Amino acid sequence: MPEPAATIGPPASSTLPRPLRVCALYPDLMNIYADRGNLIVLERRCAWRGIGFQLSSSGLGERLDGDAHDLFYIGGGQDRDQRLCARDLIDTKRDGLHAAAARGAVVLGVCGGYQLLGHSYTLGEDQIPGVGLLDVRTVREDGPRLIGNVAIEVSLDDDGPRVLAGFENHGGRTYLGDGQRPLGRVLHGHGNDGRSGLEGARSANTIGTYLHGPLLPKNVWFADWLIARALGIDAGELAPLDDAIERETHLSARRAAGV
Ligand code: GLN
Repeated sequence: MPEPAATIGPPASSTLPRPLRVCALYPDLMNIYADRGNLIVLERRCAWRGIGFQLSSSGLGERLDGDAHDLFYIGGGQDRDQRLCARDLIDTKRDGLHAAAARGAVVLGVCGGYQLLGHSYTLGEDQIPGVGLLDVRTVREDGPRLIGNVAIEVSLDDDGPRVLAGFENHGGRTYLGDGQRPLGRVLHGHGNDGRSGLEGARSANTIGTYLHGPLLPKNVWFADWLIARALGIDAGELAPLDDAIERETHLSARRAAGV
């Protein structure tokens, strides 16, 4: 791990927020695009600011304490692994996750994880159930996988639109229920279904997106937004970091998506 980037004016220790408690769901099965990179970004950006970081995981058969964590992360997965996790997610973690989301914890699902946060993922005759935190349904339809560089415009707060850039690779097409807010609008790429121009879904602090593994390395502003949300503070309260390399990474991902 490289040395921390320089922090600019970290807050006095007395004003530091409490530690960020992160729980990775099925990190061994749902990590198809090295999703742990997203967790490392969260950890580093906390450490560089002197904010404590506690990472735990919850795997197959492990009950989830919804009160014990501020941010839950579930990454991408193969259809086969998603099947394994889906039943377990409902049996041992659904109640905890719903309770956590209801009290404002952040729940972030990426790709296969996003699909499992919805109601269902249908593959032919087979229907994989989801936890229903987001009002979305995913269907594996005929047609090519939706693969490529992607950029979306998101408006998370009232501070105007911003861009998330990344990569997508999914066979499932995701459809939003009436009233379900998308995460953003596709600027380039396929998004939820390749047609609607919508990408991801968001209900309060529960977010699903098809932007993959390096989502947070490529979009550190979003990592900070998640950290702040999970800690119940404003992103502006986080000490600024020297993000020269991170900004270049973001611009490079945008260029790849032609945005
Ligand atoms: N298995 C799912 C799909 O193909 C999700 C894939 C992924 O997480 N990359 O749609």
